[in-house]
This record gives sequence, C-alpha cells and structure tokens, in this order.
Amino acid sequence: SVRWGLVGASTIARQFMINAIRAQSDGEIAAVMSSSPERATAYARENGIPAAVSTLDALLKSDIDAVYISTTNELHLEQALAAARAGKHVLCEKPLALTSADARTMVAAARAAGIVLGTNHHLRNAGAHRAMREAIAAGRIGKPIAARVFHSVYLPENLQGWRITRPEAGGGVVLDITVHDADTLRFVLGDDPLEVSAFTQSAGMAGSGLEDGAMCIWRFKSGVIAQSHEGFTTKFADTGFEVHGSDGSLIASNVMTQKPAGSVMLRTAKGEEQLSFDREDLYSRSLRQFHAAIRGKGQPSATGEDGIWSLTAAEAALQSANSGKAVKIDPKL
Ligand code: NDP
Repeated sequence: SVRWGLVGASTIARQFMINAIRAQSDGEIAAVMSSSPERATAYARENGIPAAVSTLDALLKSDIDAVYISTTNELHLEQALAAARAGKHVLCEKPLALTSADARTMVAAARAAGIVLGTNHHLRNAGAHRAMREAIAAGRIGKPIAARVFHSVYLPENLQGWRITRPEAGGGVVLDITVHDADTLRFVLGDDPLEVSAFTQSAGMAGSGLEDGAMCIWRFKSGVIAQSHEGFTTKFADTGFEVHGSDGSLIASNVMTQKPAGSVMLRTAKGEEQLSFDREDLYSRSLRQFHAAIRGKGQPSATGEDGIWSLTAAEAALQSANSGKAVKIDPKL
C-alpha cells in the first residue's frame, strides 16, 4: 500500500484529495501536518486521520511513502525539496513554486533522489479533456487552427483569503487558474506554447496589487493561436473549452471544473455529435496514475516537467501584463 502524509491542512485536501487517496485500493492516509498543532489535531479528528504533526521533519520521519503538498504556494519549494531528500514521493499542488527556476530545482531534486514528482493539474484527468485530445489526435477536426478557453469563475467566499490578499504566498488569478489553462491547452492540443500576450485587471475583489482577472493570447509551435480568460469575480459566467480546426470544431461546455461534468460536441460537415466520455472522479484518477508511477508503470498524469511548463507560461503572462509586450515562453527543459 502507499502511505500518504498530507502537508497542509487545506481545503482542497478536505474536499477532494482525502477521498481520492482513500478511493484507491492501496491508498492510506497516515498523517497530516499543519503549522498549527491545534489545527493539525482538529483536522486529523474531523477527517479520521490517525496522526497529526506540526513540523515537516516529524512528518518525514514517520512511516510514510509519499506526501501530498497543498500548502500556500510559497511553501511548496522547500517542502518538496525536504520530502525528496527524505526519499518520499511528492504529489505537489500547482503552481509548483513561485518561479519557474524554483520549479526546475524541484524537478532536478526529484530526479536526483529517484522519487516520483507529480503536479496536481486535475483537468488532464477529466474525461471531457481526454476525449478532446483523442479526437484531435485522431484528426477528427482536421488541422487545429484556434482554441478558446473560458475559465472565469467566482471565487467562493470560503476561499477569499490568501489568493486575493497575499502576493508573497503566490496569490492572484494567474498563478491560480492560468497555470491550469496553460496546462490543459498543452494537453488537449498536444502542443507547446511559444509566446503569450496578456492583460490583467483588478476588478474589485483582489487587493495588494494582485490581479483577479486575466485575458491571455497564446501562440503554439504548430501555429495554433489560443485565447484564455481567467477570473475570480464573474458570478454568472459559464466555463468552456473550444478547439476549431480545418474540418471540424470541438465545443465543450462546463468542463473547466473540479467535477467530472460538462459536455463535448463535435461539429463537422456531417453534423453535430455529442462525444461520450468517462465520468471518473478527476482527483481519483490522478491518484491512480500516481500510484502506478510509484510502481514503475507510466508517469503521473501531469509530471514535474508539465508543472515547469505551466508555471513558465503563467510567469510569462504576468511579465506580459506588466510590460505591455508579448513574452516568449521557454521552460529551459
Ligand atoms: P487553503 O487556504 O484551504 O489551505 C492552504 C493553507 O492555509 C493550509 O495548508 C493551512 O496551513 C492554511 N490554513 C487553512 N485554514 C486555515 C485557517 N482557518 N487559519 C489559518 N490558516 C489556515 O488552500 P486551498 O486548499 O484552497 O489551496 C491549497 C493549494 O492547493 C494551493 O497551492 C492551491 O493552488 C492548490 N489548489 C489546487 C486545486 C486543484 O484543483 N488542483 C484546487 C484548489 C487549490 P497549515 O497547513 O499550516 O494549517
């Protein structure tokens, strides 16, 4: 079995990842670490976790095989490096770190330690996105020309904390959502972005100079151009993902979500077809792939390198918004 230690008494672990680990036949949660001993104990009790600790050292010395890191973003780097040094596999939340240089350090450390490092880009595990990727790879829309991603949401009140107040913790919508859009575009298109131009805004929710809305235009290696919209402040917007090709269009609705929801429609000269896809829980599939990777079978659904790519892309979007110029994307891989 794989014994997990949770680094961070977080909302995402409570809402999705604890269940996803327990959904595996060989997954077990051994301990949780919080910087506050009281929060660690309360979190362990509420979630039926046998042990609660308040230092990373204590967690890494306990009988665990892997850590799931879901602390605020500025903490991921040091926590992942310490876990790798201790020989524990690491599933880390996105963004991997605050800078792409730090993310590269994490990937190098994982390689040196011989541990598996994954980035928790859950959308790669969505049946909808996998169906789109397969349809494109099979040539069903001909040559891809352009893509549009609609991923502007309303940040729930219980999450209106560090994301909109703490730049030093990696707040802002670009590190929160643009990283996912960059990764999902790479995954669905099977292509890498070369360049981005972006505008950001503070539409009234985020403070401390942080952005709560972004629109990005991406150029991919194949020549595809894409646009993406990320936001925290749009209460009534739908999400979606479209890819338009020479012979067809894929139009997915309500698919930029944590749930296995939404629909994917293929429109060609023959008419319209709803694509069917599996409805497995996204986070559970992420865990299944990760456990297989630990056993030497395949890779996590998003690797550390994928995490470097998405963070490099988000970093370039922020640089573009600040400079008013298009910025090249070079993950230095
Ligand atoms: P939370 O704000 O819920 O948790 C982050 C940290 O905040 C915790 O580790 C905890 O620190 C601290 N914290 C939590 N509750 C309190 C409290 N009541 N008082 C003081 N501190 C508290 O963050 P999220 O779960 O929303 O996000 C965590 C990470 O996961 C981020 O990196 C984020 O980007 C990522 N994420 C990824 C998603 C995905 O689908 N891939 C979705 C949502 C988030 P401590 O551990 O020390 O107690």
